[in-house]
Amino acid sequence: MDRIKEKLKALLKDGEIKGVLGFVPSSTPLKNRVIYTESPEDIDKFVVSPFNTLNPLSYLLRLKEKGKVACFLRPCEQRGLNVLVSEGILKRENVFVIDVPCSGAVDPFRLKKAYDGDIKEAKVRDDRIVIKGTIGEKTYPLSEFIPYSCRVCEVSSFGDIDLSIEGEKSTMEHENYRKIEEFDKKNTL
Ligand code: SF4
Repeated sequence: MDRIKEKLKALLKDGEIKGVLGFVPSSTPLKNRVIYTESPEDIDKFVVSPFNTLNPLSYLLRLKEKGKVACFLRPCEQRGLNVLVSEGILKRENVFVIDVPCSGAVDPFRLKKAYDGDIKEAKVRDDRIVIKGTIGEKTYPLSEFIPYSCRVCEVSSFGDIDLSIEGEKSTMEHENYRKIEEFDKKNTL
């Protein structure tokens, strides 16, 4: 991620991009905020996290007149971008796509239900979610709070990207692979 941030700062300085759209931590636990910035100082605040639950494309649509904007996009959002480009709503040359490897975004409503108190802080440690709040600290398996649509997601990067974040992918097991493995075992003579 540091390499990406340095590259974005250089692109801003050289005027190759007008600004950057991405997620930063929020004072509201479980839901990071989307910001657009034209300031290199803000670049260090960007995070890749399962708490990035909003869709940055809706924000990107409001920046159409800005010129070329860099945007952190997960594979499903890249697919959304392709649709917007094919329908003439956005120009591909106005988006600098940063490919974000993704194993799913947390369902904040399910987590709020599981933690029976006010949540003050939430963090992801390896494949666990650690919640602190009015009933103390509790830890949950991350995979239990990833929606089904993400657990069976087979979308990978679309190839039409400008920059890729490597090595950020979670080690969370993919549900489809697990099913295939179970099926394979049943068919072993
Ligand atoms: S796992 Fe797939 S559907 Fe879920 S946020 Fe990531 S890319 Fe999108």
